[in-house]
Amino acid sequence: MPGADAEQHGEGVQPAAMQKMINKAAWLLSEGRVVKISPYMYYVIGRNSKHLVKYENGKFYCTCKGFESKGFCSHVLAVMTLSGLKEEASSFFDEAVRQRVLRELRGMGRGR
Ligand SMILES: [Zn+2]
Repeated sequence: MPGADAEQHGEGVQPAAMQKMINKAAWLLSEGRVVKISPYMYYVIGRNSKHLVKYENGKFYCTCKGFESKGFCSHVLAVMTLSGLKEEASSFFDEAVRQRVLRELRGMGRGR
């Protein structure tokens, strides 16, 4: 279906911003920049800084500024995609978003 951006659960997440975040998450994963510390803790090495993503009581937490202001970020998305853990409290990071990251990742992995 062409109108993929017609769906709008959650607030204030623009489709373009979402796509950007999906691309970033796929890039982090493809570069091996998501490091598992424990089943509920991951280290994400960004281009300029490193962040810690925690999974606690069914929710993700990240130490970056974007997460602080928006409540979600590409690091969390990357960890969610890798770990298979699900955000329970919000509908923002749902299975559909995860599948989009995986699809992006497959596209990137070509030509290896
Ligand atoms: Zn973050």
